[in-house]
Amino acid sequence: MSDVAIIGGGIMGSAVALRLAQRGIDVTVIERGIPGAEASSAAAGILGPQMEADGPGPLLDLGLKSRALYPALAAELRDLTGIDVGYDRSGVLSVALDEAGEADLAVRRTWQLARGLRVESLSGEAARAREPALGPAVRAALAFADDAQVSARELARAFSQAAAGAGARFLTGRYVRRVLIEKGAVVGVELDGDTLPAGAVVVAAGSWSGLVEGAGVPASVVRPARGQLVSIETRPPLFRQVVAAPGGYLVPRRDGTVLAGSTVEMVGFKKQVTVGGLASILTLAHTLIPALGEAPVTGSWSNFRPFTEDHLPVLGSTSVRGLVLATGHFRNGILLAPITAYAIAELVATGRATVDLAPFSIDRFAS
Ligand SMILES: Cc1cc2nc3c(=O)[nH]c(=O)nc-3n(C[C@H](O)[C@H](O)[C@H](O)COP(=O)(O)OP(=O)(O)OC[C@H]3O[C@@H](n4cnc5c(N)ncnc54)[C@H](O)[C@@H]3O)c2cc1C
Repeated sequence: MSDVAIIGGGIMGSAVALRLAQRGIDVTVIERGIPGAEASSAAAGILGPQMEADGPGPLLDLGLKSRALYPALAAELRDLTGIDVGYDRSGVLSVALDEAGEADLAVRRTWQLARGLRVESLSGEAARAREPALGPAVRAALAFADDAQVSARELARAFSQAAAGAGARFLTGRYVRRVLIEKGAVVGVELDGDTLPAGAVVVAAGSWSGLVEGAGVPASVVRPARGQLVSIETRPPLFRQVVAAPGGYLVPRRDGTVLAGSTVEMVGFKKQVTVGGLASILTLAHTLIPALGEAPVTGSWSNFRPFTEDHLPVLGSTSVRGLVLATGHFRNGILLAPITAYAIAELVATGRATVDLAPFSIDRFAS
């Protein structure tokens, strides 16, 4: 018997497990593979609520809250595990390559200033003065000095190790077939071969959440959106800030590695890196930073973002007592992991969350 069973040991499952275990709750994470080995390790690690948001709203608010938790979280995880998660307030430059892009930047600047956020408008020349490696195609930029980055792989590793250190059990290589429900309340999960009784179940199975029977997440609500990434080595580093443009981005890590991404493809669970994907990523990378043309490509991979139609995560209680959802984080799961963990653990432990989860309820898909 476990107080809480968590389905999925990605960043979401591991982070929720850490916060529950720290509250003294008996928690078991069931992970069919290796903790963190899916989307959470594949991610670029941009913590970019300002870069990502199309306008003010609940996603921006949640993202800003979560971004603010990062400095203390990075220090906490280093204390607990010795792992440096590579938190770096490098800033993000969102650039325009054409007139439409410039108009879009102007709109974003206006609403972000009105929202009280730090944002600076730069001409192409001013952007190149900040980052001399930027190519001549960059016509203008917005600088988001408070957006940041982290090493997603190290973060996923740190969360699972910290959770285990705090007392969470990990059943790895085990698969949850379905959530067991009696009289409108969860009583546990059925695994491949046996059952695990539990008083509450948290669904954190990322893109696969819709495939777990009884999890309350229709497969049409959370779907896989494939993203491809390329790693490039620069020595010495060519630029400091994340550079984002319509259709992709470049994330310069401190060690000189540049992560170039990404595609958003609705192709089911086909884990492939394609010629088309590489072509679009590398063409944009070369346009943004022409000197990357001389840099060696060191790797490429793809994984699945848990996509929802409105791009908001699916968080909170369901009509089944004890069944709680922490999924659907799409492009922002690394950014949103700290606030999700805090809110979901609070909800499970006390029955209510001080973070407003109403906009993220599964009920919004009921119609
Ligand atoms: C290419 C790419 C780039 C990205 N870049 C960024 C970024 O820059 N910034 C950002 O914030 N986000 C980014 N993301 C998004 C982010 O990676 C995801 O939102 C986040 O990792 C989701 O975490 P998760 O734990 O829900 O899912 P996952 O990490 O996919 O974990 C789900 C886990 O559940 C397990 N599982 C599934 N079904 C079962 C079952 N039935 N039983 C047991 N275990 C099960 C899986 O094996 C998996 O380990 C990116 C994603 C991709 C693919």
